Amino acid sequence: MSVELKKLIQARLGARARFDEPMSRHTTWGVGGPAWCLARVNSAAEAAWLLAACGEAGLAYKPLGRGSNLLVGDAGFSGVMIRLGGELGKLALEGDTLLAGGGAPLPGAVRLVARQGLAGLEWAAGIPASLGGAVATNAGAHGGDMAELTSGVSLLLPGGEMIEAAGKDLPSGYRRRVLPAGALVLGARLKLSPTMPAEVERRRKALLQLRRLRQPLAARTAGSVFKNPEGDHAGRLIEAAGLKGLAVGGAVVSRVHANFIENRGGASAADILSLINTVVLKVMDAFSVRLEPEVEVVGV
Ligand SMILES: Cc1cc2nc3c(=O)[nH]c(=O)nc-3n(C[C@H](O)[C@H](O)[C@H](O)COP(=O)(O)OP(=O)(O)OC[C@H]3O[C@@H](n4cnc5c(N)ncnc54)[C@H](O)[C@@H]3O)c2cc1C
Repeated sequence: MSVELKKLIQARLGARARFDEPMSRHTTWGVGGPAWCLARVNSAAEAAWLLAACGEAGLAYKPLGRGSNLLVGDAGFSGVMIRLGGELGKLALEGDTLLAGGGAPLPGAVRLVARQGLAGLEWAAGIPASLGGAVATNAGAHGGDMAELTSGVSLLLPGGEMIEAAGKDLPSGYRRRVLPAGALVLGARLKLSPTMPAEVERRRKALLQLRRLRQPLAARTAGSVFKNPEGDHAGRLIEAAGLKGLAVGGAVVSRVHANFIENRGGASAADILSLINTVVLKVMDAFSVRLEPEVEVVGV
């Protein structure tokens, strides 16, 4: 990999750029080999500079949120993982609109708006995402999702151009948002509905409690591994196929929620991937339904 580019990145970002950084430290599954570089950019200008530097060097880059929907392979990622911090990690309110940086924590956003009596984001309580990751994956739960709240998205395009896209101009579907190729979500505007703070807080806590009862929140997971097939639930199918507790190496199909795979210690990405493939085959055999992964596999 380019020594020149490494020097340039070090000179500009200092300790915020780490080389040969194990991705297992930055994914909720706790697996993944090294990224050539993991860089934190604190402003739109820094992000634009880094995209241009990668472009000139012909080096791949990938935006990284909290790594809560990623399966990074054991061989790692031979490019730059880009994390947003500093002014790109802030949260602010403008009337009943939340202005969120792409690197801001989704759990912090949920608590902030609940305290202000702004309803609409309670479904997200307990999702350990960044705002940028939640927008890019169209995170959702309990009938709500990011797309329906997002009135605008600030995007940085690979060429360095910054654009403000209206939410309606970015097509979306179930756990899917179409962004321009290679774009970074620098921030988003979320339109919420003013209500009584106590009511929003009650709903937030109730949904969080439901999650604690139904999901293995203490384990290392990436949330739901598979998308729910039309009219059914992936977890129901996996459980009905008798796969709860099935293990490959350190990876095991959760006994709490069958659509979760837990790293019970020492799992590799290969273990998790092999378990995912086994589950797909066994559910196909049992019910002729092909499960589609919801998690994204990187560098395999
Ligand atoms: C315990 C647990 C519960 C979960 N529950 C849910 C749930 O109820 N509903 C749900 O939808 N998901 C859930 N998830 C999955 C996950 O949290 C979501 O998919 C989340 O939106 C991913 O956000 P992230 O910041 O971790 O993104 P990452 O996993 O880091 O990245 C995901 C994708 O988004 C892209 N991305 C990240 N940041 C940006 C950015 N700034 N600009 C452009 N692209 C970006 C990445 O390149 C990647 O393609 C859960 C996960 C866990 C561990």
